Amino acid sequence: MLPAFLDSVVQLITRTSTDLPPDVRAAMGMAVRTEAPQTRAGQALTIIAQNIDQAAACEGPICQDTGMPTFEVKVPVGANQIWMRGKIREAVAEATRLGKLRPNSVDSITGENSGNNLGPGTPIIHFDQWEDAEVEIKLILKGGGCENTNAQYALPTELDHLGRADRTLEGVRKCILHAVWKAQGKGCSPGAVGVCVGGDRTSGYLHAKEQLFRTLDDTNPDPRLAEIEAAVMDEANKLSVGAMGFSGSTSLIGCKIGALNRLPASFFVSVAYDCWAFRRLGIRVDATTGAIREWLYREGTTSSPPMLSGEAAAAGFQRTGREVPLRAPISDEQIRSLKVGDVVLVSGQVFTGRDAVHAHLMKHEPPVDLRGAVLYHCGPVVLKEGAGWKVTAAGPTTSIREEPYQAEILRRYGVRAVIGKGGMGGKTLAGLKESGAVYLNAIGGAAQFYARCIERVTGVSLMEFGTPEAMWHLEVRDFPAIVTMDSHGNSLHKEVEEESGAVLETFR
Ligand code: SF4
Repeated sequence: MLPAFLDSVVQLITRTSTDLPPDVRAAMGMAVRTEAPQTRAGQALTIIAQNIDQAAACEGPICQDTGMPTFEVKVPVGANQIWMRGKIREAVAEATRLGKLRPNSVDSITGENSGNNLGPGTPIIHFDQWEDAEVEIKLILKGGGCENTNAQYALPTELDHLGRADRTLEGVRKCILHAVWKAQGKGCSPGAVGVCVGGDRTSGYLHAKEQLFRTLDDTNPDPRLAEIEAAVMDEANKLSVGAMGFSGSTSLIGCKIGALNRLPASFFVSVAYDCWAFRRLGIRVDATTGAIREWLYREGTTSSPPMLSGEAAAAGFQRTGREVPLRAPISDEQIRSLKVGDVVLVSGQVFTGRDAVHAHLMKHEPPVDLRGAVLYHCGPVVLKEGAGWKVTAAGPTTSIREEPYQAEILRRYGVRAVIGKGGMGGKTLAGLKESGAVYLNAIGGAAQFYARCIERVTGVSLMEFGTPEAMWHLEVRDFPAIVTMDSHGNSLHKEVEEESGAVLETFR
């Protein structure tokens, strides 16, 4: 039965995880060209562009969070969907084994990682029948950081800075703008939003995510929705949230709106936020052999032109000469000399730690000495290599999830620097001041770029939490990040949120 089907799906997953489609590349290329290269947002976009090129060149994951694989499959009448579902699951496990997907499927009760991305609810596979003779498979890999910034509004409602959102298209516009503002850099901006007007709470979110299968440059066939899409794009990019929430001219690269009928009593606006690492691709396969006949979203081309070329590619990450070298163990004096906006280059030992490690450290002593240490919010993709390990993707994860723990961990164990993305809240800001520590914002999604800053894996602790959640001991060199929260009570995230909030007021 369809002998090439399994291999075709593995190819689809691999390409989706490692090579952005042309429409996303074009939007990100525009963002790179619009921003001045020496600004914080400009530096972030250069790293992102480099990362996109590196991922495509080595067939490595663009971002270490390869997300929730979501397949939309259209089959001819009579096709065996049970068999295809089994093969798609097999392909997901194989792509995980090959390091194209990070093991991301976790038992919600025990916290145990299945290790192969299979489990109840993962991957997500939706089937539909159609009259065509071929099989079409579309795939989106949407990570946790941007998934956590999704938003759903029940209208009428009151919104910060925007006032009342009524059950009108004006109200819909306000909700979308509010969601983009609220996301700031946490979902690795610049992002794109898929939106559903109406439906119920469940179908609304599903239809919103389905909008992300549209290309960024298409035109909505409904002129009323097309008008709102254009208005949101214009206004969202005036908010100056910018790349990674660093302030800048591109905050949103796409807005796609659909509508479903609703109950008279309900009016939901559901917003699915996707990050710049907008991994979406599709294939059409022969219904008798399973071989790929056509790649979707690629406009007939199979190659991807580089994001950076010529001098820009050679220059890469733009150093200004003002970068501050940091090497653990870091002293109180060094930390106190750092201010918001400083770019640092971290070298030496770094320990990873995310949700499971933070929860663990609240109840147990750390497995390593963390005095003066650098803690990296990261769940890398790591493959066994001989007797050791090789990191193949290692960008930062969203830090705000550790807000309940971070200040206490700084106080108890003497950590001096926390690397992550999206920033943290008031409790951590106070903790940084009290304990003498800084928050360093790395560029979210730049998994290939940062993997190349890791010279070797020197050890691993707490492996019982699974690969992404374990505490990896990494030797890094010239790992660039920006001080966005310092030990003097300053936060760039707070500043940008307030400034963009003031602009939002003007769109009431
Ligand atoms: S780019 Fe950012 S939001 Fe997107 S999957 Fe990666 S870490 Fe998550």
